[in-house]
Amino acid sequence: MIRKIIHIDMDAFYASVEQRDFPEYRGKAIAVGGSPDGRGVVATASYEARKFGVKSAMPSRQALQLCPHLLFVRPRFDAYKTVSAGIREIFSRYTDLIEPLSLDEAYLDVTEDKLNIGSALEIAKQIKQAIKDELQLTASAGVSSSKFVAKIASDINKPDGLTFIGPSKIESFMENLPVEKFFGVGKVTAKKMKNMDLHTGADLKKLSEQELIQKFGKSGRFYYSIVRGIDERQVHSSRETKSLAAEDTFAYDLLIVEEMHKELEKLADKVAVRLDKRQLKGRTLTLKVKYSDFTQITRSQSFATPIAEFEDIFEAAKALLENVDFDNKPIRLLGISLSNFREIIVASNSGDPNQLLLFD
Ligand SMILES: [Mg+2]
Repeated sequence: MIRKIIHIDMDAFYASVEQRDFPEYRGKAIAVGGSPDGRGVVATASYEARKFGVKSAMPSRQALQLCPHLLFVRPRFDAYKTVSAGIREIFSRYTDLIEPLSLDEAYLDVTEDKLNIGSALEIAKQIKQAIKDELQLTASAGVSSSKFVAKIASDINKPDGLTFIGPSKIESFMENLPVEKFFGVGKVTAKKMKNMDLHTGADLKKLSEQELIQKFGKSGRFYYSIVRGIDERQVHSSRETKSLAAEDTFAYDLLIVEEMHKELEKLADKVAVRLDKRQLKGRTLTLKVKYSDFTQITRSQSFATPIAEFEDIFEAAKALLENVDFDNKPIRLLGISLSNFREIIVASNSGDPNQLLLFD
């Protein structure tokens, strides 16, 4: 069955919320995050500032050079989280299959929609209109039969865009797509591809799966499918998400507790970032330990108050590790998972501007 997937992405999210709430910022080049003394980075720039080349993740100093009249605005996370909950409420009128990627971005599977509208394009139109009418903000939407194409499509006519790429158009769309637009292709890989004279999807398509794997490792297999329009990844709603885990198999077995702590720190960070993106908190933390002889144990702890912060996850994992009797067996894998979720509807903490996630 052909799926109907919508990717919705709010336009210049933080900056648009500030311009909505403070008329004095409207029509002005503003940056949320960063500061006029040149410290920090821009989290989101208004479209007026983007005309000057100001972008997300750009150091304030550089942003000021490009746009000397740029206004820096302190982020208000409570406001953004409230808007985010409002957007999700609008989505939920049409489907429960909602996979948030961040506060301002989500995949929706509307193969079967609650209102029996049937047309994904019509649903995307209605959602955009509801966001405009009820929240006074604009969003861009991409509509297609896979997550990958829907996501790229939402980016095509920003702001206030709506792009539909039907199943019969997907292959030619992918062939014309520049390699840097491919999911997972960062600057380094894009440069590598260009040096190999690979510029578009059509160029990637000329290579066999084996050649792509040889050149780009595991991602090669993904490129092979995606360039042929094959992307079977499902839309996973938060409600369905049973656990979020991160684990790592080590290049050499670990025997020293300090080394294990270092690994737990990395894993805790990964889990915390993923929880934040999905706006989830977990009540149960599980530590997985696999020994060099491949035997494995798990230890769990549950909390009265759900956790999502890096420090809480790291501390709990360390405490569980203390209760593990290693018996001098080297460890080859450690894993941390969080489960027993609760969705954060509106979080009360205002957040640390230094830990801004970047939202366009
Ligand atoms: Mg956005």
